[in-house]
Amino acid sequence: MAEVLVYVDHVDGAVRKPTLELLTLARRIGEPVAVALGSGAEATAATLAEHGAVKVLTADAPEFADYLVVPKVDALQAAYEATSPAAVLVPSSAEGKEIAARLAVRIGSGIITDAIDLEAGDEGPVATQSVFAAAFTTKSRVSKGTPVITVKPNSAPVEAAPAAGAVEALAVTFGSAATGTKIVSRTPRESTGRPELTEAAIVVSGGRGVNGAENFSVIEALADSLGAAVGASRAAVDAGWYPHSNQVGQTGKSVSPQLYIASGISGAIQHRAGMQTSKTIVAINKDAEAPIFDLVDYGVVGDLFEVVPQLTEEIKTRKG
Ligand code: FAD
Repeated sequence: MAEVLVYVDHVDGAVRKPTLELLTLARRIGEPVAVALGSGAEATAATLAEHGAVKVLTADAPEFADYLVVPKVDALQAAYEATSPAAVLVPSSAEGKEIAARLAVRIGSGIITDAIDLEAGDEGPVATQSVFAAAFTTKSRVSKGTPVITVKPNSAPVEAAPAAGAVEALAVTFGSAATGTKIVSRTPRESTGRPELTEAAIVVSGGRGVNGAENFSVIEALADSLGAAVGASRAAVDAGWYPHSNQVGQTGKSVSPQLYIASGISGAIQHRAGMQTSKTIVAINKDAEAPIFDLVDYGVVGDLFEVVPQLTEEIKTRKG
């Protein structure tokens, strides 16, 4: 069976969920070989093996320590050359897409970004994408070289599939571009304790209807009762009520959680583009004609300042 390279997103050995989802998809098209880089790379092996990695190629070097992309591309290329895989799968994060694009150029291959599903085809892996603000779903495959495919978080289930997960050291030679740039300083953002927006199983978003930065505490309280991430429409972000890093939509982030709750959001096409593939959509809006209601599984016509706190209290009560 052909090998499929899976680029591992991890923090000091803790594998992030989108990588485990990639392993599920990789098993549909071949034998997953994981590539883990940087501090804690070897510590990823047990988790990766539990989810189907037959092999884990690891490399650690000071070059991987900061958020520079080129050293990682050098390493992924080395893994590609060592394995001749049937495909290379990378999580669709900002960093993942840059790594994937650079690799595809280097190896002369086609690339598909932001896939939401993947299946084996007669002429290579077939990727499903949601395009034109989620108005269409397309299926495509790469016709040149080895397919390099980035996959959106929450596109596949995480499945236990025990495999050998044999750790092998990957030899990497860095090119001059990898060592030519240095990070001189970085300031970590204060943690909210909430899950990362694009990875969260539940997202609670607020829009213009929230009517002020201070009122976002209502949205945050609901999010916290559910262990959810907080999102915002562009109108709320442009008004300065919530950071751009939380914007959902065409010019923000794409999310695909199990549950998306939109409060005080009208449902403009550019907002839909970032959340339409959510599994269950709930909207709270005081205008029964709001376009968001065309999209939802459950709609509540009402004032969010009445509905959301009641919902939060009910969830807290039921959770005990
Ligand atoms: P509105 O459209 O003003 O809707 C507010 C809603 O809140 C209304 O439906 C109203 O009935 C309801 N409401 C008001 N008060 C209450 C209350 N007390 N209780 C309950 N409901 C209430 N938008 C994005 O979100 N993300 C993007 O990435 C994005 N990218 C864009 C890119 C381009 C190129 C362009 C042109 C636009 C983009 N937009 C984006 C903007 C988009 O077109 C909309 O303007 C925006 O999504 C509207 O945000 P909203 O729904 O919060 O506000």
